[in-house]
Amino acid sequence: MTNAEVYRFQCGHEQCRSQVFAPTKDDLEVLIAQHLKEVHSVNKVTDTLMSYIESTCVTVVPA
Ligand SMILES: [Zn+2]
Repeated sequence: MTNAEVYRFQCGHEQCRSQVFAPTKDDLEVLIAQHLKEVHSVNKVTDTLMSYIESTCVTVVPA
């Protein structure tokens, strides 16, 4: 079975607006953590921060 949808993270940071795509939410969380670390110097992404990001910046889009 192929995925008909992908998870998209759209960075809400001013002047960043990066988009990251992943096939699963778990994969996306890893990529979000990487993005925050590399681009925004956030070394520790807490559960609270991750849930906030998921509710505001993550959408499911057709692949
Ligand atoms: Zn960003």
